[in-house]
Amino acid sequence: MCTGPINPPMTLLNVISYTSYFIRFLKTPEGYDITTLQAHRTAQEAEYMSMLNATEVGEAGQFLSTLLLLQGAAAVADEDRNILIPKLRQWQRSFNGLASDVSERCLAILTDDPNMRSMMSSVKSMIERKLVQCNGPGCSLRLRSTGADLLQCARCKSVVYCGPEHQRVDWPTHKAVCFPTTY
Ligand SMILES: [Zn+2]
Ligand SMILES: [Zn+2]
Repeated sequence: MCTGPINPPMTLLNVISYTSYFIRFLKTPEGYDITTLQAHRTAQEAEYMSMLNATEVGEAGQFLSTLLLLQGAAAVADEDRNILIPKLRQWQRSFNGLASDVSERCLAILTDDPNMRSMMSSVKSMIERKLVQCNGPGCSLRLRSTGADLLQCARCKSVVYCGPEHQRVDWPTHKAVCFPTTY
């Protein structure tokens, strides 16, 4: 089994990392160590990654930056952070496009860059929105009209609604991606 920072399912991971299932999983005890582990793998393989092409570094960096964004830089061991920061600076300069952008994003979080702080926090709320904002079409409510918490889809527990009406309206769309979860 490949345990490096880059492997065939990486593209798939980048797609699912923006779903509410993955975001909710990251908040469970089982999901908590993923950022620590992925940062460690990336640090260990940093020399090897410098020899890869921009697409591969971009994919790996995108996954790491999503994890860092959602779980925070505190999850990264100091030893790994000390390896990653100079490498990310190098990748930011030597690559173009996504690889450069995601390296910059990882750096901003790892160094808590004050110029990037508000941008990173708005991206984070955008990603987490599905878990806290009504999934009804065009609805942005974060509380029910009574002030109570939004209703959770009983089956997947990964989307919320301001009431039964929006759940009903959204069901034809949501049912395609709704499945029971055990975490
Ligand atoms: Zn559901
Ligand atoms: Zn609604």
